[in-house]
This record gives sequence, structure tokens and C-alpha cells, in this order.
Amino acid sequence: ILRHFLGFLLPDAPSLLNSAIVLGLDTVRWENKPHPITEIGIAEWDGFINPGKDVGTHCENALINIRAAHMRLKLHAHLLNKQAGAGDPENFIFGKTVFVDEDTAKQALAVVFKRRDFENGPLVPVILIGHGIAADIANLKETLGVDVLAYHSIVKIIDTQALASTIPSLSYSRTAGHNATTISLQMLLAHFGIPIEAFNTAGNDVTYTLILAILLCYNDQSTAVPRPTQNNVHISTVIRNLKTVCSEQEALPFGDEKWCTRCSGVGHFRKECRTDLSCEYCVTSSSPKAQQTAYTHMVEKCLFKANLVGSPRPNSE
Ligand SMILES: [Zn+2]
Ligand SMILES: [Zn+2]
Repeated sequence: ILRHFLGFLLPDAPSLLNSAIVLGLDTVRWENKPHPITEIGIAEWDGFINPGKDVGTHCENALINIRAAHMRLKLHAHLLNKQAGAGDPENFIFGKTVFVDEDTAKQALAVVFKRRDFENGPLVPVILIGHGIAADIANLKETLGVDVLAYHSIVKIIDTQALASTIPSLSYSRTAGHNATTISLQMLLAHFGIPIEAFNTAGNDVTYTLILAILLCYNDQSTAVPRPTQNNVHISTVIRNLKTVCSEQEALPFGDEKWCTRCSGVGHFRKECRTDLSCEYCVTSSSPKAQQTAYTHMVEKCLFKANLVGSPRPNSE
């Protein structure tokens, strides 16, 4: 189906397909129980390539039309993952992050997924792409009570893990024990020679997923291993150009662009925060560890009080 958008028209394509939009979805949850949702990444590819038109080296004419959005849930944005390989949600390299409360997140998702070309018109069909997308659909359901399938706009779901499973060189490394059951996004990026940058945060991962979906569909994966340099252009140049274009885009028109994960104040970021804080729970706590951090955070974000001290300190530096 994606190849239809890349100029290889499906002979019996329903007319519906030409009005469809391509959306990517990724979610991140906190590593500790109860694993609240911390980030939602949405990407859109508006890149219909007319038949006969050149997609360019490394599909650059298609990739350049990817746009990404990144939402961080205010309620949980101070909960940072610290496990090995954890991403940095403050490092969204394909656009601008917004901070949203749960209702705003739901509103934004509905606006993105339930589009109509004109008032009272039919829903615009959505082709949904993700990497292990079933988990992301489940995450939204479990944490926000949002069932994206109930929007009734999604006509097709494409999983880059499934797309990648046909690549012989990757299936070889899988059996060699790199990963027992799944092909990771990192492995796929490496396969195409794409630098792995600012990884494991929802806005970036969802963008990488759309990039990979396009590359996987365009190339015949069964034959050759892709060359990172083609026509004297390295694929990292194409990704860098996309980054530049994306970073000039407006943020999603929901929530707050500047919001502090330390004091919940609007208009500044955590790093700029000068607000005096104290946690009434930790001040009176008998635990020396809690006392030590009592003046670094507010009680609403207290991990000791919430009994969530899996990582020993709240994000307070
Ligand atoms: Zn602040
Ligand atoms: Zn506290």
C-alpha cells in the first residue's frame, strides 16, 4: 500500500486510498510501576509521489515531507526513564514538544486521527504505521482510555517490525541471538546506515519509524543490502535535511510549549527554574534520603510519598 504512495500505483486501488493520510504513532511509558504514559509521538507523511516522478536519492523527495509532533504528559513528565538505553524526552530533534494534560492529549489525538476534508464529510482514511504498533495502541488504551481503532478512521495498520521480517540479513542476525523475537528500530536504522541519534523518545522514534517504513517499501529488501552512500549522498545528509525542515515547523496547537517539569509553571523550562520548592512529606520523613531531597521538589511530584522510589531520587536537579 505504501508503494502506491511512492508512485507505484496499485492497479485495483480503491479511490479511498488516494485520499488517505499516513500517520505514525509511538508511546513511551515510565519504566517503574504503574508505568504511566509519559510521551506520545505522532508523525505524518504527506508525500504522495506522482507516478513517474523521481523519489530522489534515498527517497529524499518522499522523506522530506514527514512531519512530527511530540506530546509530554504534564502529570508524568517529571518521571524520567533511567534504564540503559533510555531516551531523553527533552531532546526532540524533529520539531517542538508540547506539554499537555490528559484531556488535551485525548483531544489532540482525536483531532489528528478524525479528520474530514469538509464539514460533515466522511472521515479521512488513515494508514497507521508503527514499530510494534500493537503495544502503542494498547498503551493508549490502558493509560488514557483512548482506543484509536474506535475512531473508525484507520483503514490499514502497517508494522515496520513485520516489514523488516523479510530482510534476510536481519533475520540472520536475529538467529545469531541479537534479539530473539523482534527487530529493533536501532537494528533497522543501522541496516540503512542511518545514524542513531536521540533515540527512545516518542517524537524521534515515530519519525524514524516513518522513515524506515518508506525505505523498506521502496527498496526490494530481498535482494541487496542498502548502500548508505548513493549518488555521492550519504543517507545521514537526507536525515539532516529532514531535521532542519521539521525543526522549523510550528508545535502542535495543543498544550504548552514552555512548561516546567519541576514546578509545573508555564513559560519556563526545568533548567531555567528558580522556584523555591519544598516537599512537606520529605521534610518530615524519617528517611535520610527523603530528607536530603526535601527542598528539591514539590509534594505533587514526590516519588517517596507516591511510594514510587524505584529510581531513588525524583527528577530534581
Ligand atoms: Zn519551574
Ligand atoms: Zn518528597
